[in-house]
Amino acid sequence: MGVRATQNSAPILSAAEAGELLERHWGISGELTPVGSFEDLNYRVRRGDHDALLKVCERSAEEIAREHAVMAHLAGRELEVGVPAPLPTRDLQYSVPAGAARAHLLMWVPGLPLSEVPYLASSTVTALGRLAGLTTAALADLALEPDEESKWDPRLAVTVVRELLDATDLAQGAMAADLETAIAPLDALPPQVAAALPSQMIHGDISDYNALASPGARGELPVTGLIDFGDVTHTWRVCELACACVATASRAPADPLGAMRAVLAGFHGRNPLGEAEIEALWPLILGRAAACAALSAHHLGRDETAPYMVGMHQGDVEALRTLLALPGRLPTAVFRSLTGLHPAPDTLGLPARLRAAAPVALIAEPVSALDLGVASDDLEDGGWLDPGAEAMLAAAAGPVSATRWGEVTLTQAGHPGPHAAETLRLGITVHAPRGTPVRAPLSARVVQAAPGALRLRLPEPGIELRLDGVDPVLEAGAEVAAGATLGATASAPLHVQLITDPTQPRTGRVRDRTAWQALCPDPSPLLGAELAAPVSVDADAGRARRAAAVASAQGLYYDAPMAIVRGWRQYLYDAAGRPYLDMINNVAVVGHSHPRITEAARRQFRLLNTNSRFLYDAMARYAQRLADLLPDGLDQVFLVNSGSEACDLALQIIRVATGRQDIVALQGAYHGWTSGVFEACTSPADNPFWAETKPDFVHLASQPDPYRGLYGADAGGYIDSVGEACARAGSGGAGPAGFISEAMLGNQGALVPPAGFLPGAYARVREAGGLCIADEIQVGYGRTGETFWAFEHSGAQPDVVCIAKAAGNGHPIGAVVCRPELAQALGRRAAFFSSTGGGPVSCEIGLAVLDVIADEGLQANALAVGEHLRASLQAVMADHRLVGAVHGRGLYLGVDLVRDPVAKTPATQEAHAISERMRELGVIVQPTGDHGNVLKVKPPLCVTTDDADHFAESLDRALGELEVHLPHP
Ligand code: PMP
Repeated sequence: MGVRATQNSAPILSAAEAGELLERHWGISGELTPVGSFEDLNYRVRRGDHDALLKVCERSAEEIAREHAVMAHLAGRELEVGVPAPLPTRDLQYSVPAGAARAHLLMWVPGLPLSEVPYLASSTVTALGRLAGLTTAALADLALEPDEESKWDPRLAVTVVRELLDATDLAQGAMAADLETAIAPLDALPPQVAAALPSQMIHGDISDYNALASPGARGELPVTGLIDFGDVTHTWRVCELACACVATASRAPADPLGAMRAVLAGFHGRNPLGEAEIEALWPLILGRAAACAALSAHHLGRDETAPYMVGMHQGDVEALRTLLALPGRLPTAVFRSLTGLHPAPDTLGLPARLRAAAPVALIAEPVSALDLGVASDDLEDGGWLDPGAEAMLAAAAGPVSATRWGEVTLTQAGHPGPHAAETLRLGITVHAPRGTPVRAPLSARVVQAAPGALRLRLPEPGIELRLDGVDPVLEAGAEVAAGATLGATASAPLHVQLITDPTQPRTGRVRDRTAWQALCPDPSPLLGAELAAPVSVDADAGRARRAAAVASAQGLYYDAPMAIVRGWRQYLYDAAGRPYLDMINNVAVVGHSHPRITEAARRQFRLLNTNSRFLYDAMARYAQRLADLLPDGLDQVFLVNSGSEACDLALQIIRVATGRQDIVALQGAYHGWTSGVFEACTSPADNPFWAETKPDFVHLASQPDPYRGLYGADAGGYIDSVGEACARAGSGGAGPAGFISEAMLGNQGALVPPAGFLPGAYARVREAGGLCIADEIQVGYGRTGETFWAFEHSGAQPDVVCIAKAAGNGHPIGAVVCRPELAQALGRRAAFFSSTGGGPVSCEIGLAVLDVIADEGLQANALAVGEHLRASLQAVMADHRLVGAVHGRGLYLGVDLVRDPVAKTPATQEAHAISERMRELGVIVQPTGDHGNVLKVKPPLCVTTDDADHFAESLDRALGELEVHLPHP
């Protein structure tokens, strides 16, 4: 076959010569800038609004005409993307001689090549796959005369690579073995598979280099253009997908399979593939990767100076290695499962067949199952972070125990980071005393025997049993009968795994579960026990279940929420065992699942939980503790169940005490969900229709926001606004019952009001005869660092304080603390009672929370880590135009994202995109504020400076990735 793999290098034509050529044949001129290309010479011709691309290539007029025919065919279809249009010369030619080569001119397709986008989100990769699917579907009916075969055609990769190995010095290079390994599966493609592959014209290089995106104003990246038709060829349709897979996998070295999954999903959704195509895909991907690496090596050998080539070759070599590192059979099994096929038909029904074969148990002793799952009751208090956790559990479980097949293993979860760990167990690890005899479960042949390792071929085609942690008494080649002794357990635990390829690892990604469980079936029958872990509900199914019964007004974080199963300190773990750094949970103030809180609850629940009309001591102790934390005079405590209830009660108290109804509140505030409180909430996110529904007795004062507020950093303007709201209050100016506010505006994005605001505002309220409520529900409890309550920073003293959230570390506790005469006023009107408010369990939990904050120095930690974090975020701000300001105090911070730092235009969609990306990087943070553009940073107070650094680094990365394709203001 004449593939001419060793031919071609870029033709040479200077910019001046190219300009002259353009002038002569097309009658146009413009500034010419070179554009990188593998083997053509490209110039961008800048001509105002109508840029063009001059391509000089070693191709015949017929070959160029084929390219143009493909473009024209696609242009006639509704492809959803732009393709270049050829521009005729003055005498209506579509290509002209240019020295030894030929030149043609194309309309410039605007857009940003995806190769220039630093991070390709899964949705963008899927869009690229969709483009490949659409393009192949559109070209299916294009009939062109057969052309000369292209060396870039993945179908021909074996020939191309072999030709280059033979004709060049590649065979001596370090890459030769990789190239041979990579082309072997394509070389071995069964003829009946090859014969079943549909052929047609394809573009031949739908890659991140040739797919163009038009970045939206908010950072979205729709794919809008397809360029470079120099590789069009008639071949198997699936070759187009193979090219796109290699291109995107090389962009995702940490997870090439993730990228290929996304491309395939996009392609198959638009142009469904047949089973033979799915079978051929992985061999073609490897072939394509090998051919690219070999061809770029060959070109580099001839022209080492071209920087474009150097980078390209390095990328090709890395892509090849990355792909070759994927475990055998996994890609095809994943591709099959994604397209609705059984991932590995040869293993279908295997566990049942094994069970029916009545195997002898590998170990004679009974085996008990260990639970190392994410929700395991046997793992607590972060014990899974100890590398010896599994051994400790095994030691406690009895003489012989085993991990479960298919378990999502918490002990493998690791720490939050940009990639999910491989937590899915593909085999079973048996913990038995050293020297325990290991027997052949079925008649078998020893394939491999080495100290500590044994591989047996079972009487099932293609299936082997791998045993690690066994000292064998047999040699390779031996035939063993069922029940024969294979050896004895070694010092390491005995790992038992059914494999369909020797490269299969012990653990895999939960995402690939369907494929993995078919490739490495359950070996439980060989142990005479049921050791398969139950499959947890995945996030999609969980979401559907929630949608069926949970009222839809209760939203979820994230576009595709993860199912959260466990919390520990500042970490949350999802059902796939992935840990996240929780930077949003101010409720879990002392950290998730704190053992002292759990113990306080357990103990009191077992002892007594009743209501506050009975006399028990915990209520008095807890009330006293809260009162002791507040300034003198604030010593009457009501205990309730939530922040809303606390604020509602606070409003009732000031109304009863003053005999007035009107309330003054800050613009944009949120204080709770009861109808009494919600009336005073004007947070656009929580109460979008506030402007239409706000009752006349609620009066709004200007938001004291030094960054965007009406009066800037001038406290006086905002104080006057409070005074004016008071003046409007009450019929005939009788005045308000009072004023409710947060001392630091948590819900509005951690805005710290200008100094002097709160004392000034309180003074105006009091002059008008009103009372002042401090809502400390979010910002209190030591979070702001220097003081326990946020209002203490300001020097102002409220009449009523509302407490909740952190008070119970997640247990529903709310409290209202006020002066005695106010409490008495309420008592004259009502017998206050909240059935579970202030119950013994709540009080013991509340006390434990306060103890832990004190004993673990969490307020001091909030100050130290908060200041460190604030400084890091300010450094991030200096590097990123998207960050307009860092608000807040201690560990309640707000990162204000803006489109334009001068106009401070809120970057709302960008904040959403950053939150989504941060979650991919293993960090939980969400937007808040009037415009949903401020990232609220309010983690459990046990976060460390390392966590703070991880957060700042992740934010820096996410911002950098997004900013590249955001328009400049
Ligand atoms: N006040 C403030 C400042 C809040 O942030 C919230 C809750 N976000 C509440 C009151 C209401 O608290 P809860 O959700 O416990 O009812």
